[in-house]
Amino acid sequence: MIDRLCIIGVGLIGGSLARAAKRAGICREVVGAGRNEAQLRKAVELGVIDRYSTRIAEAVAGADMVVLAVPLGAMESALRQMAAHLRPDAVVTDVGSAKGSVVAAVRAVFGAVPGNFVPGHPIAGTEKSGVEASFAELFEDRLVILTPLPQSSSDALARVRGLWEATGAEVVEMDVEHHDEVLAATSHLPHLLAFTLVDTLARMDESEEIFRYSAGGFRDFTRIASSDPVMWRDICLANREAILHVLQRFVNELGGLTDAMRAGDAEHVLALFARAKAARDRYVNNSNGKRSS
Ligand code: NAP
Repeated sequence: MIDRLCIIGVGLIGGSLARAAKRAGICREVVGAGRNEAQLRKAVELGVIDRYSTRIAEAVAGADMVVLAVPLGAMESALRQMAAHLRPDAVVTDVGSAKGSVVAAVRAVFGAVPGNFVPGHPIAGTEKSGVEASFAELFEDRLVILTPLPQSSSDALARVRGLWEATGAEVVEMDVEHHDEVLAATSHLPHLLAFTLVDTLARMDESEEIFRYSAGGFRDFTRIASSDPVMWRDICLANREAILHVLQRFVNELGGLTDAMRAGDAEHVLALFARAKAARDRYVNNSNGKRSS
């Protein structure tokens, strides 16, 4: 299906996609690109990619499918480096965790979004980074959201969909704005809260004791605070409007809980916890065996 797949950014997501595509036998060759040659060499040694270049322009040459898997803050520069070197019929997609900023970067580089560009986002990941953390099964039974634009060609959309389906993922489509609102609530806000909670506790005088006596709940809640700070800085800034909206809502709710606790309002506290438990139990039961990140 793919003759030459080019992955820009052979890290957790790019590396896992390369592995999954190879495992599915859907591409003849995988070419990687990045800045760090030692990491790219490692990717070849691990069998994740067949060859690499530290020059994006060189890596995309002759590729019929190009996947951008760099942090959001690096998307525009990567697009700029590839623009003049893409095959005219190459299909280009990305894996960025916010979509509005990627579409804006494509517009800034190409003037308008080309028909063969299809934005995408796999709802899968771990708190680890880099090619050594990548694995072929990452996308199995997971959702991948594609956010095609009105001008996206049906052929390009079908090819990107085919790539993700070959990894074992289920592909759904959404518009760009809706994607960014939904992900702000389900992924970006929880990461922000986890980072802030751990930072707050770590900077308290008794922090050593707090961490020493923390139990499974703390570990579960804060796992995602081990995620890459650069990646999450980029996501927070790229999707800041949608994140600020849901963050304000959360702050209001937290204010309500604080007031209720001050007033000793057991009913308010219990009602909130009971609603939350019911909602989470429903979510877990409805996940139908789909893994959560
Ligand atoms: P990662 O493991 O850190 O990989 C990022 C890769 O991009 C690295 O291999 C890095 O290699 C390369 N890179 C970084 N800056 C670059 C630049 N300026 N030019 C060229 N290459 C550059 O990160 P990741 O978790 O795979 O995330 C990649 C993308 O996936 C991000 O856009 C993120 O929003 C999205 N995403 C992440 C998750 C998740 O849970 N991790 C889930 C879904 C989507 P060099 O250092 O060698 O350049």
